[in-house]
Amino acid sequence: MSAFKSRRDLFVLPEGVTYLDGNSLGPLPKAAAERARATIAEEWGPMLITGWNKARWMDLPGRLGDRIGRLIGAPEGSTVVGDTLSIKVYQAVALAVEMRPGRKIVLSDNGNFPSDLYMADGLLRSLGQGHELRIVDPEDVAGHITDEVAAVMLTHVDYRTGRVHDMKAITETAHEAGALMIWDLAHSAGALPVDLTACNADIAVGCTYKYLNGGPGAPGFIHVRPDLIDQVRPALSGWLGHQAPFAFDLDYRPGEGISRMRVGTPPVIQMAVLDAALDAFDGVDMDELRARSIELSERFIAEVEAGCKDVTLASPRDPHRRGSQVSFRFHEGYAAMQALIARGIIGDFRAPDIMRFGFCPLYNTAEEASFAAAALIEIIATGEWDRPEFRARKAVT
Ligand SMILES: *Cc1c(COP(=O)(O)O)cnc(C)c1O
Repeated sequence: MSAFKSRRDLFVLPEGVTYLDGNSLGPLPKAAAERARATIAEEWGPMLITGWNKARWMDLPGRLGDRIGRLIGAPEGSTVVGDTLSIKVYQAVALAVEMRPGRKIVLSDNGNFPSDLYMADGLLRSLGQGHELRIVDPEDVAGHITDEVAAVMLTHVDYRTGRVHDMKAITETAHEAGALMIWDLAHSAGALPVDLTACNADIAVGCTYKYLNGGPGAPGFIHVRPDLIDQVRPALSGWLGHQAPFAFDLDYRPGEGISRMRVGTPPVIQMAVLDAALDAFDGVDMDELRARSIELSERFIAEVEAGCKDVTLASPRDPHRRGSQVSFRFHEGYAAMQALIARGIIGDFRAPDIMRFGFCPLYNTAEEASFAAAALIEIIATGEWDRPEFRARKAVT
């Protein structure tokens, strides 16, 4: 796959490092480093406040939203970037419960990322209208979608195991029951083909520092189906989501379309970095990227399992039911991952016992998959992981 070979050159990948954690924090795109410099030195420096107009800083949230929209099957003008994903989740749930007055349940699953659950729960409590966040097993979601459910809120790809929900089928079931469907695409955007339009999804959110390589702390995004957006008044009614922010009216009037999901001043430098990072996806066929991702993960699983009996595959075995990561359980998974990192093979760990390996076809190669598999086998076979320095827990795992 020579198409991907040249993409690898777009990234800064340190010598001696095999990076398998782009599902948590994408690597630095070379163009992003240059764009950060240029934004600071050629825009902020000389332009000062005039940069908002001259360098079109104010348009960044919508322009970037459209660029991401192309990767997730969202029409122009239906996606906007800003804040963090947790905030976007809050906005999404707030919209949904407002659109379904009388329905008191928001349904999610226990494979969801805790922040999504915490944000939803916090919002529902503060509403004080008797709403309930109901959390069920991932495979039981469809069976719990009743006419009491205002919204079903799910993360498409499970952050721990990589299990993929059937987006089209669950969205259909939600709609049949009159519920709204919220998809979190944190582990999907830029990792596998997503077609929000074909699925008729109502609301989608995601982050940009994982597979989209926007850098640490890069902003989140939100998409609302165009026929719904004008019906809702945003819960986080910040001035930049106002119809006329610079009229400085005392009354809030929601802005045109998706722009009402903006809140406050955009982080311009971080957004400029994201803009440059997204160039790496220009001309990428997402079906081809998916095929390559499956090739990498299948190779890794086959080689690890052939050489090691002490780990258990935590991801679905069917590659079409798995995102772009592979997770293995090992009783001392944390220490084993630290031993891998000491060798320059960077994945990560999720409690209680999951070692995660992300495969990003834009830059990962088949040789890297094999190299990591061989190292994991050796570390476990020799007990190399069993050292005090590998067992000592760091703050970020
Ligand atoms: C990574 C991730 C988050 C993190 O949210 P932030 O507000 O960006 O810290 C939330 N939800 C899911 C599903 C994630 O994968």
